[in-house]
Amino acid sequence: MLPVVALVGRPNVGKSTLFNRLTNTRDALVADFPGLTRDRKYGQATYEQKQFIVVDTGGITGDEEGIDAEMAQQSLRAIDEADVVLFLVDARAGLLPADIGIAEHLRKVNKKLFLVANKVDGIDGDSESADFYTLGLGNVHQIAAAHGRGVTQLLEEALLPLAEDFPDMQVKPKVEQEELDAEEQLERLKNLPIKLAIVGKPNVGKSTLTNRILGEERVVVYDLPGTTRDSVFIPLERDDREYILIDTAGVRRRKRVADAVEKFSIVKTLQAIEEANVVLMVIDAREGLADQDLSLLGYVLNSGRSLVVAVNKWDGLTTDIKDEIKRELDRRLGFIDFARLHFISALHGSGVGNLFESVVEAYDSATQRVGTAMLTQIMEMAQAEHQPPMVRGRRVKMKYAHAGGYNPPVIVIHGNQLNDLPGSYKRYLMNYYRKSLKIMGTPIKIEFREGA
Ligand code: GDP
Ligand code: GDP
Repeated sequence: MLPVVALVGRPNVGKSTLFNRLTNTRDALVADFPGLTRDRKYGQATYEQKQFIVVDTGGITGDEEGIDAEMAQQSLRAIDEADVVLFLVDARAGLLPADIGIAEHLRKVNKKLFLVANKVDGIDGDSESADFYTLGLGNVHQIAAAHGRGVTQLLEEALLPLAEDFPDMQVKPKVEQEELDAEEQLERLKNLPIKLAIVGKPNVGKSTLTNRILGEERVVVYDLPGTTRDSVFIPLERDDREYILIDTAGVRRRKRVADAVEKFSIVKTLQAIEEANVVLMVIDAREGLADQDLSLLGYVLNSGRSLVVAVNKWDGLTTDIKDEIKRELDRRLGFIDFARLHFISALHGSGVGNLFESVVEAYDSATQRVGTAMLTQIMEMAQAEHQPPMVRGRRVKMKYAHAGGYNPPVIVIHGNQLNDLPGSYKRYLMNYYRKSLKIMGTPIKIEFREGA
């Protein structure tokens, strides 16, 4: 589990700018028009060795009517799912009535709250921020999101206290103990059930599929009390293997929430992916690939989790349409070409049984022990078949390889000038390892280290 940090504030205070800095993306639009960032945006961030999920809540103006009310609703939900709220104000604009309105909102929610005065670059931050103390929200943290000033200090304060509750947030240091660590990690994985998260956007058929998988089986449901973002964990046994189904659709949740939009939560989905060993991503054949599907898949890929894709609602489609859908998927899913695609009907049950073969394959691929000798040998074969290129008159030399982790498999290669390897050669190596080790259903990560 990773902590969730929500960015809140009226439009134009710099939320998108801070979001981009934290997530290292240029995804969120940054422009000088108030109210441009309307939708919530989610991203994974690593800052100073700490990982977390960041949510840009769009704007609240503190004076909500019409469309603004809708926006405020969205923001309030995001706040509800957050562990920490960063309330941004604009040091250049000074204290505005809207800020006071938002502060009123925030006082009511019981969250760790940090008041952040942005845009202190080139102005006297102390005197320009003085008014914000009258909001009564404690210390005013001065930053310049556009330049990164003050951001590290802010995060130290906001995130460090969470370390105890969220041990996963600390990025593990790279030590020479890696081989041993990988071995230990594998031992741990081998003794645990496979955690399988069923994810996808609303209405693709997650609940129907979950019910279909659970069938008549008697299940014990861990319905942990929590917020909307908590998934339900359902233990399950199948063909002598143990699973824990991470149910993001809330099928077995006792307090049923009728509204489909209400039961869908991106934070819940992202947390479930982090938690899982294998992600079963459900896509609606009839809707085609939506942007939201692609961004979820991108997130899964980044997370390194194993992946199986279920193209659902495959019943009652003509051959022509099926062919067309397959062509579209072929064309647009190249970036997850390691994942098996299944065409299923959760409603009628066809194809559902076969999903588990791919889930097991993906998990086993991700947790297959690979020793130093074998990894080095494969590396040598790849190198012999296709030499790395010359860089500045010297040949890049790979010396040996060892495992650096599992789920996803991490292969660490040591050698000289490895930082100069072109992307094409890295992809070649990745594919070579994939074929040699017969790895299917999981991404592989290759890391390069200079020297012996
Ligand atoms: P949002 O509506 O809260 O998401 O705000 P944006 O991130 O879109 O920023 C609004 C405007 O403020 C943009 O023109 C940014 O370039 C500008 N801005 C954001 N951060 C800073 C900063 O640290 N210093 C200065 N001077 N401008 C900033
Ligand atoms: P969720 O929001 O992802 O949990 O989606 P649901 O399981 O609630 O399904 C949304 C709608 O799609 C419901 O009306 C289901 O009956 C329908 N549905 C689910 N799976 C299938 C399928 O395989 N074929 C067809 N035709 N409809 C399906």
